[in-house]
This record gives sequence, structure tokens and C-alpha cells, in this order.
Amino acid sequence: MAISDSLQATKHRIAAACVAAGRAPDAVRLLAVSKTFPASAVREAFAAGAQAFGENYVQEGLAKIEALVALRGRLEWHLIGPLQSNKTRPVAEQFDWVQSVDRLKIAERLSEQRPPELPPLNICLQVNISGEASKSGLLPAEVAPLARQVAALPRLKLRGLMAIPEPGPESTGQHRAMAALFDALNAQGLDMDTLSLGMSADLETAIAAGSTMVRIGTAVFGAR
Ligand SMILES: *Cc1c(COP(=O)(O)O)cnc(C)c1O
Repeated sequence: MAISDSLQATKHRIAAACVAAGRAPDAVRLLAVSKTFPASAVREAFAAGAQAFGENYVQEGLAKIEALVALRGRLEWHLIGPLQSNKTRPVAEQFDWVQSVDRLKIAERLSEQRPPELPPLNICLQVNISGEASKSGLLPAEVAPLARQVAALPRLKLRGLMAIPEPGPESTGQHRAMAALFDALNAQGLDMDTLSLGMSADLETAIAAGSTMVRIGTAVFGAR
């Protein structure tokens, strides 16, 4: 299927899931996850109406940002994969969002290294909601203290939380737990607007739980 067709089909899936959940059809943003696909695929998706793109690997993302520099300012780049402290500078300089922050040290470096002429870097804290030892992210109890510290850093804007629930039917509880954590932190005054939850296989479950951004790779670009 052409990228423009799969993008439209995905947008319809998102809108239908919003309606089924009693939410406005435009309540959820689509992040097109372009990891492993070439810059030409990003260009095609952009031409078909995608505006925000997610990359997992710093070097690969930077290469695509460079290749598409002519579109700078018209598309938004999100880092959604692990970030080591020796790679923070180019990320602070080139990306618009980092959704995978789970340590204060990384957040401090991103804030220090964000160029003053750019708007603050948008941040989501990654939560290990499945509790699997192999997964990165904060444990739920660790989120509130780091959220307060990140919200206080001058060159960052804390936008919300990101998680990757386990695949399979038992993960519905994990989607709901993320939404509950997000609401609880906002009730404590954190003012976050983004719950980044849901991928190709679980976007309906995520939207029913309250996701505001789904990160979709396979359903837009095809199998990796
Ligand atoms: C790869 C990836 C996605 C997209 O997954 P699909 O199943 O291809 O939609 C979303 N979020 C993260 C963090 C990813 O690594």
C-alpha cells in the first residue's frame, strides 16, 4: 500500500477510536514513527499530511533531519528511543521533542545544551508501566519527583508521559494505569498535555484509556 493510503487509513482508525470512546475525532495526535525507513518515506508521508515524526536511534534521526533540512520548521522531530548522556548535544540542537527521558542527568544536559534561539525542548518522561526488567523508563512511583525537577529546568518544557505497554490483552490495565498516573500528576499541578500511548497494534485500547498521542510505525510505513 502507498504511504498516503496507509496514512489516511490510520487517521480514520484514530478518528473512529476517538468516536467509539466518546472523544472528539481530533483529540489524538498522530506521530509517524519513521525508524528504519529512509528520508524519502518521511517526505512522502509529509506530502500526504503527516507532520510529526518519531525516531528511535539518534544517529539515524540526525541523518534524516539533515537530509530533510529544507523542510525544517514545517515538520516536528521526536526522539522516542534511548538517549545516552554523550549524545545529548546534537539531540538538544536538532530535535523538537524527546519522549524517552528517564533520568535527571539527561534532562539537565538537554536543558543546558538547548540553543537559546530555539523554543524550549518538549519533554515526555518514559514510564516502565509493564514493570519488565528489560524495559527502560521510570517506575510509576519515581515519576512525580522527576517531573517536578524537569518542569523547573529553564530550557525544557515538560509535556507529558510516554509508555510502551506489554503486547496482548492483559495490557489494558497498563493503559488505564498510565492514564490514572497522568491525571494524578496533573491534579497535583503539573500541567501536562500529552499522554503518549499506543502503537500500531494497541491504538484503540490506548485511545479508549485517554491517550493524546499515538506513535505509529508499521501501520503507516509498513513492516520493518
Ligand atoms: C517502533 C516504535 C513505535 C512504533 O511501533 P509500531 O508497532 O511499528 O507502530 C512506537 N513507539 C516506540 C517507542 C517505538 O520504538
